[in-house]
Amino acid sequence: MDTAFLDRLDARLAELDDAGRRRSLRPLRPVDGAMAVERDGRRLVNFSSNDYLGLACHPALIDRAAAWAAEWGVGATASRLVCGSFELHAVLEAKLAAFKGTEAALILNSGFQANEAVLSALLLPEVAGTAPLVFADRLAHASMHEGLKAAGVRQIRFRHNDLQHLADLLEKHAGEPGPRFIVTETVFSMDGDRADLPALCDLAERFGCFLYVDEAHATGVLGPQGRGLAADPAVKGRIDLVMGTFGKALGGFGAYVACSARLRDWLVNRCAGFIYSTALPPPVLGAIDAALDLVPTLEAERARLTAHGGRVRAALADYGIDTGASTTQIVPAVLGDERAALAAAARLEEAGLLAVAIRPPTVPAGGSRLRLALSAAHTDAGIDRLLEALAP
Ligand code: PMP
Repeated sequence: MDTAFLDRLDARLAELDDAGRRRSLRPLRPVDGAMAVERDGRRLVNFSSNDYLGLACHPALIDRAAAWAAEWGVGATASRLVCGSFELHAVLEAKLAAFKGTEAALILNSGFQANEAVLSALLLPEVAGTAPLVFADRLAHASMHEGLKAAGVRQIRFRHNDLQHLADLLEKHAGEPGPRFIVTETVFSMDGDRADLPALCDLAERFGCFLYVDEAHATGVLGPQGRGLAADPAVKGRIDLVMGTFGKALGGFGAYVACSARLRDWLVNRCAGFIYSTALPPPVLGAIDAALDLVPTLEAERARLTAHGGRVRAALADYGIDTGASTTQIVPAVLGDERAALAAAARLEEAGLLAVAIRPPTVPAGGSRLRLALSAAHTDAGIDRLLEALAP
């Protein structure tokens, strides 16, 4: 090993340390249906998990994961194009397409990998030419920005959810050759606000753009029967590709894209992150399958989640804490300064609550916050405790 390289690693880590930004992993154990965790012998109610419907420890998911493992084994044994494409994948993809209301769907191994790999495959020069124009919301998830970087394409960022800015940029570049792509999220992970999908569809149609949306935080939670905002009748069939994950409201792990059969076919043939990675294994597929059966029936849970969100936002507004433009189960308590966010997280931990401070570079400088992720599985008493702990 090159010692100069190791010295540079040490120096960069020391810099992170000095800036108070060196991260470390703190193991914990989920207890009480995953709505609480135990760490260092202490029990904390969890307000940082994306288990929005409380499915991560749901018996139906656990039972089907165990049943499918018993029947099919714990590994897919190879990538999909080799011998890892089980009947289970095909059945689940048909079910997913029906759930999302699209012609086809494809399962991928994680949301990060899906965004990175799928965008790269869509932007290959053989289909996108050498100068595609990609208009991306400034706050789109890191995985999308990484995908665009990996594809080596020019990225034109528009101000977060500012569709007038997007329209101006589309107009400005109207004379340039090359296909156009708009890339955004339907619910933003750190802010809990929503994209205006009908207006985005209008713009995409007006300027002839491919519209790519990430429904990681909407899947299971929003839209008709929790099918996501892209399943809303006002936009159904107007979005070229919808991606989402199974690791949040659906309680498990993995990701999907829902799109036309033609796009799916392209990904099966040319998406390196799909082609060269071992397929998701049967127990993971079992949990997804059970979640897809359950999610449309969970109207009461979604209503409860909406109520929790409204209650937390109203209380934080009373306390003078900024919650930005959140309208969903993700409620940021924006505190600005990194130290203030860390101190607030430490105070909550003292009170038996886990709400991790989110700091730059995950959020813009000056936007440090507690990202409060609410769940239908939180009790009213749990929300009471959170609000008491946040009270000035
Ligand atoms: N997209 C968004 C908007 C996300 O918040 C996340 C998870 N942080 C991902 C994609 C990545 O999904 P996964 O965790 O399945 O890799």
